[in-house]
Amino acid sequence: MFIDGKWVDAHSGKSFDVTNPATGEVLGSVPAGASEDAVAAVDAAHASFSEWSNTTPYERSRLLYRAWELMNERSEELAELMTAEQGKPLKAARAEVKYAADFLIWFAEEAKRVTGEWIPSQRPDQRFLAVKVPVGVVAAITPWNYPISMLTRKMGPALAAGCTLVLKPAESTPLCAKATYQVFVDAGIPDGVINLVTAADPAPIGDVFTGDPRVAKLTFTGSTAVGRVLATKSAANLQRISVELGGHAPFIVFPDADPVHAAKGAAALKFLNAGQACISPNRLYVPNSLSAAFEETLCSRVDRLQTGNGMSEGVGVGPLVSEAAVAKVEKQVEDARKKGAGVPIGGHRLTEGSYSAGHFFAPTVLTDISDDMTIYREETFGPVAPVITYDEPDEVIELANDTNYGLAAYVYTRDIAVAMRAFEGLRFGIIGVNDVNPTSASVPFGGMGDSGLGREGGHEGINEYLETKTGGFAI
Ligand code: NAD
Repeated sequence: MFIDGKWVDAHSGKSFDVTNPATGEVLGSVPAGASEDAVAAVDAAHASFSEWSNTTPYERSRLLYRAWELMNERSEELAELMTAEQGKPLKAARAEVKYAADFLIWFAEEAKRVTGEWIPSQRPDQRFLAVKVPVGVVAAITPWNYPISMLTRKMGPALAAGCTLVLKPAESTPLCAKATYQVFVDAGIPDGVINLVTAADPAPIGDVFTGDPRVAKLTFTGSTAVGRVLATKSAANLQRISVELGGHAPFIVFPDADPVHAAKGAAALKFLNAGQACISPNRLYVPNSLSAAFEETLCSRVDRLQTGNGMSEGVGVGPLVSEAAVAKVEKQVEDARKKGAGVPIGGHRLTEGSYSAGHFFAPTVLTDISDDMTIYREETFGPVAPVITYDEPDEVIELANDTNYGLAAYVYTRDIAVAMRAFEGLRFGIIGVNDVNPTSASVPFGGMGDSGLGREGGHEGINEYLETKTGGFAI
């Protein structure tokens, strides 16, 4: 763990192993932090807040810019570590390191653009000023599926704003978190400003983060269930919160779209990170008139996907994170099969030969999906593409909106009017129009409804770490 500028063990001396999800190999072990370690981390972040928040934005920008340079210099070693620890193919890991670094340079620049307002008063002898100040100590909790970029998406803006922080990474990817921290340390972030608590049992750490009155803000990325619990606890202390949660993205192909082009897009998007992405499509709505061509292309693309250890050349789909993740996917597929879904390709675990020690599920297409199936409502987080056919283009937006989630949605059409109406009608935070990658460090990321509160990235991202202070000056 990294507390007050030093790499330290847990107070208890306990540690836990980290394994490669493709091979079961133990990659290393990290301290099993508990409440007292989390408190020590908050102590350090609290003690360093005054000095750090009084550095100039130009100084903070310089340090973030240096971290960006170092992350780029180390991109290959970071990507290899990510593939070993999290499982995604090396090419995807390289893309994630680049995305992670993008947040550092974006917020290095945003640091210098935090301005205030000079507001006229009704009284001639009064002046008003409204300025932005850092919220204080930030507690961050991050998931395993994007184990470096989910850290920089929080650390970049928090540091740019002048906050200090304590962070708990997911228990399956603490080595990526350590390597990310080393980048910040080597960039010269002062002692105490960033603190890292690794833990096998996250709940006691979450209790410190949400219960300590010195923590001003909680930022969480993970499942809706855990986010709801943490947000409820934070609310009791009136902490500022942002929670980036789960999704259940619709992918709508309109009747005028090219079904082959749309199916290629769906295949590229759905199997990224083995489907373990919050913006992964979970419902593919295809008009009956195009379903044969769409399904044929989708299945042929899936057939060509190579599943295996992400380190091997040509592998496009890696392992899932754990046995529990495989079991969840298997359960959803079995439920759909029992209720009448077709399974033209995949639909089972991969357990033979080189798959035997890892957590693999075959890339799968399901057809004839209906609304009584679990997969129609629950996030899958696995390599399964469920196709739902429809007849009425006028009703498909309503079908797509029929979810508690509201993170990402995708639309395929060649008609600008259809695209614009879909963009306006969909209740989701991020909408890709003929675009399977509608994300970037420079645009807001976040969802509506059960997908969370707040936005990360873009100009808005830094606001999550700032408070407004008003001054009235009698002169
Ligand atoms: P998770 O909620 O199980 O875990 C996320 C983090 O919360 C981990 O660090 C975990 O250790 C911690 N955690 C779990 N229980 C806790 C508790 N009681 N107290 C404190 N911390 C606790 O989610 P996950 O399986 O790691 O991640 C997958 C989920 O994250 C999916 O639902 C996915 O959609 C979502 N996600 C959302 C975004 C987004 O930006 N909206 C991005 C990535 C992932």
